[in-house]
Amino acid sequence: MPSAVSISSPWRRPTSPIVCRFADGQVDLLIIGAGYQGLSTALHAARAGLSVQVIEAGSLGDGASGLNGGQVIPGLKQDPETLLALFGEQAGRRLLQFSAKTADAVFDLIGAEGLEVEHQRSGWIQAAHTELALQVAVQRNRQWRAQGADVALLNQADVALLTGAEGYRGGFLDRRAGVVNPLALVHELARIAIASGAALVLNDAATSLRKDGALWRVETLSGHSLRASKVLVATNAYSQGLVPNLAESLVWLNSFQIATEPLPASFDFILPSGQAVSDSRRILVYYRRTPDGRLVLGGRGPMRVPKRTEDWRHLERAMHRLFPMLGAVRVEHRWFGRVAMTRDALPHLHEPQPGLLMVAGCQGRGIGLMVGLGEALARYCRTGEPDDLPLPISPLKPIPLHRFRRLAVAANVTLYRALDALER
Ligand SMILES: Cc1cc2nc3c(=O)[nH]c(=O)nc-3n(C[C@H](O)[C@H](O)[C@H](O)COP(=O)(O)OP(=O)(O)OC[C@H]3O[C@@H](n4cnc5c(N)ncnc54)[C@H](O)[C@@H]3O)c2cc1C
Repeated sequence: MPSAVSISSPWRRPTSPIVCRFADGQVDLLIIGAGYQGLSTALHAARAGLSVQVIEAGSLGDGASGLNGGQVIPGLKQDPETLLALFGEQAGRRLLQFSAKTADAVFDLIGAEGLEVEHQRSGWIQAAHTELALQVAVQRNRQWRAQGADVALLNQADVALLTGAEGYRGGFLDRRAGVVNPLALVHELARIAIASGAALVLNDAATSLRKDGALWRVETLSGHSLRASKVLVATNAYSQGLVPNLAESLVWLNSFQIATEPLPASFDFILPSGQAVSDSRRILVYYRRTPDGRLVLGGRGPMRVPKRTEDWRHLERAMHRLFPMLGAVRVEHRWFGRVAMTRDALPHLHEPQPGLLMVAGCQGRGIGLMVGLGEALARYCRTGEPDDLPLPISPLKPIPLHRFRRLAVAANVTLYRALDALER
């Protein structure tokens, strides 16, 4: 008999109140979506003197920013040499230097603003499960060291000691990385954006967006009609039909997570130094400890909306494979959210019409990226100078045969899971 699931995450938000309001009259910048992208841009734009309105369809943290695993990892999925080859020396170096500092953007903000966000900066391990994956780690380590990054190569014994997990050959340690309470970070970004003058409205979706003379006009579900000089559509994996081709330029996948009950001291050998981990499998799992001692573990899940506890069973199996001693430990939280993927596995910045901006496609690594991009997006809204942007502005193109893409991805996930199982 399948068991109905109660969906919850272990992330708690700070108790400070968030005061919502509509701005008076037209604004310089209207932002649709209150995740890290929308709120970080709102913060920097408001501090630069722009009038800013943010509207969010749900509650704070209902999107990926409140649901993620809290692993703050610098860099993109591509290694430095790949970025330089893809974008050329000038644009590639700008993107590389920006991406190298995205974890700094998060931890510096928390420190400088005294944000009430639980965090720990002990690094991130990419644990290699095969010899081939270890060779990738060797290259990654070489390339980031050449950029002066604080990274290291780990041998089998190092990884076993740092993770407490079974079965890895070695790995890559990035000491720039760390973990945060992701929901608290959304809440605190909203709080300081509002304190800096931005207006925020929750539970009111943008339903239409159109040009109105020199301005943009946005209608909301509650019947409000807002006018702005510029609009940032910060809806990412939760994009729907507001901007033609935006949702069709992405494939969103469900990322699932589980959190155990707080583990007793006898399990202190699991991640004893507090690193976050992702492994090198095609369908990777990622995990970390929370300050109250839970193990949080995530990975791909079914493409449909989950309904039963069994939909998270693959994660429990992964946890028991890595940590067989956790057999009797209870899973207390199960939840999921959407991750936006692009065809080239790069995030994209679009401006399909002047003054209409959007960034989408974090490939599951968006905390540092989106918090860090906020400052550059705000600067661009003020100056209109594209050289201020770490990402080039690219055309907004739908993926061909988009409606079949998710089926193709689902088939690939099944295939990759089978290949991963063979390599155990
Ligand atoms: C389960 C999971 C685990 C992840 N783990 C990690 C991790 O460990 N490390 C990492 O770096 N990244 C991780 N990510 C990715 C990361 O969370 C995202 O890249 C990042 O949060 C994206 O931020 P965002 O502001 O662009 O989008 P979101 O946070 O998704 O915000 C978009 C917002 O737009 C709102 N919206 C949509 N349509 C409308 C509308 N019409 N009107 C108004 N509002 C609208 C949505 O309600 C939503 O709140 C994970 C993602 C998921 C789902």
